[in-house]
Amino acid sequence: MTIMVLGSLNMDITAYGKVLPRLGETVLADRYEMELGGKGANQAAAAARLGAPVEFVGRVGTDPFGKLAMDRLAEFKVSARHSSRDESHGTGIAVIAVDSAGNNAITVISGANMRIGVDEVNAVLPVLAASKVLMLQLEIPLVACEAAAAAARQLGVKVVFDPAPAPPEGLPAALYGLIDVITPNETEAQSLLGYEPKTVEEAARAARELVARGAGAAVLTLGARGAYVVGRGADALVPAFPVTPVSTVAAGDCFNAGLAVALSDGKGLLEAVRFASACGALSTTKAGSAASAPTRREVEALLASG
Ligand code: ADP
Repeated sequence: MTIMVLGSLNMDITAYGKVLPRLGETVLADRYEMELGGKGANQAAAAARLGAPVEFVGRVGTDPFGKLAMDRLAEFKVSARHSSRDESHGTGIAVIAVDSAGNNAITVISGANMRIGVDEVNAVLPVLAASKVLMLQLEIPLVACEAAAAAARQLGVKVVFDPAPAPPEGLPAALYGLIDVITPNETEAQSLLGYEPKTVEEAARAARELVARGAGAAVLTLGARGAYVVGRGADALVPAFPVTPVSTVAAGDCFNAGLAVALSDGKGLLEAVRFASACGALSTTKAGSAASAPTRREVEALLASG
């Protein structure tokens, strides 16, 4: 059944050069790439790669980047027919510079992404009602996420919530009760809870605290150490799959996509997190964000080997 993603979409314009420019400096780079980005679009593309029917609800401008982004989503077989166009704000853009050591400097112009509000959510309630899982992140206004989570709860749609980027002041207390699974990494957990879980024991404590705040389950992602899961009877570390990473960009997005797809398939929480971990691990073995997302066949092969 359909997965609905309400979230951000950017075009990522990345310049690859030897060095990053210093203040006031102009440098020549070797090449550039233009790719789909933004956590919402990345998660939608990654879920579609796994074979799920995906509805992406976002907002772009009327500029050529909006058209480019929609074409890219279509190539990933993501439906974006309920996304909207903003007449006065441009498509979100990320201007990224990467040096030869892989360091980066990024400027994001959120544009139309930050113009998603309660009206845009209300307009897609029939799409939500026909979905099994709603995926949310925080690169769009929080009010839109709150409205969507509340509507999903009423409609019996599961909410997978990636609190990224986490607001420094944390989340409104009432939002936790509307979330089925919350998936912070260590840095995001720090914004939500006020301390950074450094050890696996601290991650366990943090996940339990998020459940105590009202989330149905909490999955704390710990990079190469795996993910700590609390909720629905589970309280366990799901270790990461051993892989040789090339780029960890969008590992979290692929992990969330895997989790949503597995839950919409009806898998139990621990099994869904294992599936998600395989997606996250495989994504690190390829460069790119949405482009690094694995297929279901690749995920199943890794699961069978582990
Ligand atoms: P984020 O990208 O949001 O910071 P993480 O880095 O915690 O998220 O990665 C999400 C998940 O992807 C991890 O919980 C893990 O399952 C998987 N993963 C990430 N990095 C690696 C890695 N180096 N090796 C294996 N799995 C990884």
